[in-house]
Amino acid sequence: MTTSITLNELYQRQITLLGEAAFEKIRNSRILIIGAGGLGCPALQYLSSSGVGVIGIVDFDIVSASNLQRQILFEINDIGRKKVEAAAEKLKKLAPFCNIQVFPFRLDATNSLEIFSTFDVILDCTDNFYTKFLIHDACFKTGKVLIQASVYQYEGQVQMFDFRERQGPCLRCLWPEEPLDGCTATCAEAGVMGPLLGVMGSIQAMEALKLITEKEHLNNGETLFVDLMSREFDVRRFKQKSDCPCCVKHECKVQEVLQVDWPVDLKEFVLVDVRSLEESDQCPLVEQFKKHYRVLQIPLDKIKDFVPPSDQKYLTICARGLRSLNACHYLRAQGLEVYSLRGGTNNILSMENL
Ligand SMILES: [Zn+2]
Repeated sequence: MTTSITLNELYQRQITLLGEAAFEKIRNSRILIIGAGGLGCPALQYLSSSGVGVIGIVDFDIVSASNLQRQILFEINDIGRKKVEAAAEKLKKLAPFCNIQVFPFRLDATNSLEIFSTFDVILDCTDNFYTKFLIHDACFKTGKVLIQASVYQYEGQVQMFDFRERQGPCLRCLWPEEPLDGCTATCAEAGVMGPLLGVMGSIQAMEALKLITEKEHLNNGETLFVDLMSREFDVRRFKQKSDCPCCVKHECKVQEVLQVDWPVDLKEFVLVDVRSLEESDQCPLVEQFKKHYRVLQIPLDKIKDFVPPSDQKYLTICARGLRSLNACHYLRAQGLEVYSLRGGTNNILSMENL
């Protein structure tokens, strides 16, 4: 069926508006989308159906029931499947001329530079500070264009960082050191509306297409704020920081944070539980750990007051592995040997069926 459909039939409306030469630029473009979630799904749909030549999808996660409210590429039958596989299957039906490449693993400091090197534009559709800064720094290092979005309840923001000339301002002009996840509520904790993600993911796709076809688009130092409750769109500007560690001093490293999977030999480590005291008290697992191993209780918001001896090996833990990753990242920057337990105590409880 698809063999009888021509490119012109599929893309006529767009070619009418942009012209053949601009469409050719879209056909020749290579876009990487990190996170096939609420932002990634609409971005993937619109970019593949716009005729983008190559689309890469990075996501390690599987589809769960709570995703379906906003991750519109997936349906009930996809629950339990890898997101990249379910997404690629749908997109191939929607856009048979698009070459879809999947990366079904977690993006980290060891693989980001290599993956980014074969794409022109990177869309950050992730939901945590650690990964956002990793993507930002890796884009700076590889000289890519980054289009980043984030959402909170009814509001969102989009920024574009064109690092082809390694110029600023950049994200580290605003945040020289990344904020710790857990200092702000995640979507899982604060809730988020599906249509907001549809709007923000679509804006990311639109900015990518305008960049590729050389139309007016967001620039370095501009943030588009969107508030769907008050129906306001607003672009605000920020300046380059004169001592920015990234775009001025070029000292920014793609930080390697090592995560370990359960089971772990806990005797090797001093455990650092970074959850709130109330949370830890409610978790019998930590009580068991305390009987047999060395456990320190340092809630994430107190981690900067923590000055531990450097001759020990530490393992940070929390409920889901996100706050512990941030604590790990922070403590590594202080020169300690630290690892973070992937998936947190929730993962251990599900595996051990305690
Ligand atoms: Zn900067």
